[in-house]
Amino acid sequence: MREAHADQSAPSALSAPDAGSSPGPSEEAQVIVVGAGPAGSSAAFHLARAGVDVLLLEKSGFPREKVCGDGLTPRAVHQLIRMGVDIKAPGWTRSRGMRWVAGERQVQIDWPALGGYPDFGLTRSRHDFDDILARHAVAAGARLRTGVKVTDPVTDRAGRVTGVTTVSGAGAPVVHRAPVVIAADGASARLALAMGLQRDTNRQIATAARRYYRSPERSREEYLELWADLRFPRSDRYLPGYGWIFPMGDGRVNVGLGAIPHRRHGKADLRATLDRWMARTPEAWGLREENAEGPVRSAALPLGFNRHPLYTKGLLLVGDSGGMISPWNGEGIGQALEAGEVAAETAALALALPAGPRRERALHHYPVEMNRRWGSYYRLGNTAADLVFSRSGFQPVLNRYVMGSPFLLNTLARLLTNLTDKPSRDVIDHVLNTAVRLVPAPHARRR
Ligand SMILES: Cc1cc2nc3c(=O)[nH]c(=O)nc-3n(C[C@H](O)[C@H](O)[C@H](O)COP(=O)(O)OP(=O)(O)OC[C@H]3O[C@@H](n4cnc5c(N)ncnc54)[C@H](O)[C@@H]3O)c2cc1C
Repeated sequence: MREAHADQSAPSALSAPDAGSSPGPSEEAQVIVVGAGPAGSSAAFHLARAGVDVLLLEKSGFPREKVCGDGLTPRAVHQLIRMGVDIKAPGWTRSRGMRWVAGERQVQIDWPALGGYPDFGLTRSRHDFDDILARHAVAAGARLRTGVKVTDPVTDRAGRVTGVTTVSGAGAPVVHRAPVVIAADGASARLALAMGLQRDTNRQIATAARRYYRSPERSREEYLELWADLRFPRSDRYLPGYGWIFPMGDGRVNVGLGAIPHRRHGKADLRATLDRWMARTPEAWGLREENAEGPVRSAALPLGFNRHPLYTKGLLLVGDSGGMISPWNGEGIGQALEAGEVAAETAALALALPAGPRRERALHHYPVEMNRRWGSYYRLGNTAADLVFSRSGFQPVLNRYVMGSPFLLNTLARLLTNLTDKPSRDVIDHVLNTAVRLVPAPHARRR
């Protein structure tokens, strides 16, 4: 076993010559992880901590931007704590809960005090966040190569993945080999597609857009603010999603909106909807063009396990590449971190077994475990997304009755963010755990 030292406060380990630069020649490892976003860095970190030789390949260099809302719920914070990330260091902004705004009404809901999760959330720009996590994986022993783009899986005659082909700069393609490969390459899911794992077209795919504004007035807010009453400018219909204003603690806010397009809405013009919304906010908040930092940027959100199976022929899918964003709220960082840990555990166990049927059986446990954790919850969430969120957003659930009842609000907040203790410790746990348990998880398909 390798001794792990995860000192992320050290000067960027990625600038060390052997850590994140020069692609070098062909390399071998026990596990190759493709993509150093939250999913890939989590998988690489947990593998390295388990003493597995892991090669983490990333096409860009750090630090780099990633279009995101930068918001972390207590579930995601819990994963950071499990990884030993120093969240007390400067740069992390804590949140006490959520503030929901709908029409004239607004309510604040504190994060619940649970036994299994912290009672605070965090924000941190992905520019810093992904850099910290990648460094954390390197400090634990992962070999990171940046500026290395994976182009294809390499397979043996039986079609089993045995490595990947990469290119960097104008160099010739290089083959790297490993008995297990983890695809953490985000929503593009290039590796999964190359292995024939198509997106399930019955599942929703949301789009979201965000922009930073300089807003000292709102930058140190204690609550993550969510607006449920935004409307498309042309049709005046409610946005089938919500808008957010997340405090970054550095004089800026991250403002954005996400929507699940439904054919009755036509094309979702997020930019125009954002402009209309910003014009509604008080002048003192400063959410105006002259205070904007950079352009509005948007990206797709693959929701509710929209790609399966999550394991096939030596390849495990984690994070957005496996469509793991929650259909309840569009959150995907915590999910990527958690799935990275499960994939790492699975791979470490499988590698302790001889190559062949026993190892294969161990690898097939990954989709089973993911399904056990989120199968029923996501099935329920996909139904809610189909029947409610994609039609009218959060308006129907945040009606006057719910907004006026602390019990209903807390129940809804905990449902949306998947925050319950198991076994149940209070009435809300009991209601939510029972509701989810009553929904059969979909069968984990094999290929
Ligand atoms: C506008 C918007 C707002 C969002 N807001 C939030 C939020 O507030 N909270 C939240 O929890 N989630 C949010 N999400 C979702 C969240 O961003 C994703 O779920 C999360 O980033 C998934 O992590 P990942 O590691 O799976 O993928 P990614 O973060 O996309 O990382 C994939 C990595 O793989 C690399 N890569 C890709 N292809 C290759 C290749 N061929 N070779 C090598 N490397 C490759 C990429 O460069 C990247 O570094 C938001 C998403 C959007 C679009």
